[in-house]
Amino acid sequence: MSQREWIEKDFYKELGVSSSASQDEIKKAYRKLARDLHPDANPGDTKAEERFKSVSEAHAVLSDPAKRKEYDETRKLFAGGGYGRGGFTPGAGGGFSQDFNIGDIFGQANAGDGGLGDLLGGLFNRGGARTASRPRRGADVETETTLGFREAAQGVTVPLRMTSPSPCTTCHGSGAKPGTSPRVCPVCNGNGVISRNQGAFGFSEPCDECRGSGSIIDDPCVDCHGSGIQNRTRTITVRIPPGVSDGQKIRLAGQGEAGLRGAPSGDLYVTVHVSQDKVFGRNGDDLTLVLPVSYSELVLGTTVSVPTLEGRVGVKVPPGTADGRILRVRGRGVPKRGPGGGAGDLLVTVKVAVPQKLDDNAAEALKRYAEAEKTSGFDPRAGWAGA
Ligand SMILES: [Zn+2]
Ligand SMILES: [Zn+2]
Repeated sequence: MSQREWIEKDFYKELGVSSSASQDEIKKAYRKLARDLHPDANPGDTKAEERFKSVSEAHAVLSDPAKRKEYDETRKLFAGGGYGRGGFTPGAGGGFSQDFNIGDIFGQANAGDGGLGDLLGGLFNRGGARTASRPRRGADVETETTLGFREAAQGVTVPLRMTSPSPCTTCHGSGAKPGTSPRVCPVCNGNGVISRNQGAFGFSEPCDECRGSGSIIDDPCVDCHGSGIQNRTRTITVRIPPGVSDGQKIRLAGQGEAGLRGAPSGDLYVTVHVSQDKVFGRNGDDLTLVLPVSYSELVLGTTVSVPTLEGRVGVKVPPGTADGRILRVRGRGVPKRGPGGGAGDLLVTVKVAVPQKLDDNAAEALKRYAEAEKTSGFDPRAGWAGA
């Protein structure tokens, strides 16, 4: 996060507390919001996820007295848009890190914070910048896949092709043509930044000469054009558990990018899209389907064979069943996740199919029936409020 963002973001507002709130108030406000907005409680809700990140970001700063002081002072200093000319350089020498690692902050906070770490486990290491000097966890990777309706319901093993940046194999990441090496930038002495003093403040800017990299490549590697990075494609096979729903994001621990120098791998997040099925719909763990029936089948009762995920099952339609009624077949729905096992139910909605054409025989019989219905005393609009 840049200084500029620090100035533009109102962390107090994010948490709904006053700028004089105590550490305890901040903690309480955060815990409540974190619980309400947690992605596990709001699967697929990107708005909640964004809010969750903002709230966590705000808490990361405000819960650390030193960071909070720095934040308050920065805002005070630049209140009223005083940072016009020249602007801020993210990561300028003022002691802020350009992108502080939220994961690290939570890591520290966890020790005294009783279980909050579990709640937030693994969510925050996605793609943030990290200091290069210590072993670091591999980056988290996001990808998506589309599953058939029945695959999603029953679980499936799918190959995922992923492209991610990795060091160029030709130049081993240096960006320089093999046999040559980058030289230290003479303008910034390899720092990548130029410091300037303006009055009371020291500003740093990325070095123009080396574009902030600190080194100059005279002979760029032809394979990566001097970037030192190539996109590498790999295919991994992952097991998608049964019962995933459309838009759900699944975390596969340790399937992300490899860590550097023995650090653990990052996680893989797979967003699952589920295609529609011609027969089935889903309502949580319950499977739904619409069963076309005739009027006489509803009146007289019948047993109809309907498909399930595994095969077929006979559904008994009792005599006198109303159109639109839902018949429940227990245990023939979507397999449930978790140790309890079992499955949801199959919900069969009966829907009368009205014949568009009848042959003479059937038409005659129906007319006779209509007469008989009248004399039997059946009135479809008896008790109807619109009568
Ligand atoms: Zn290269
Ligand atoms: Zn330079």
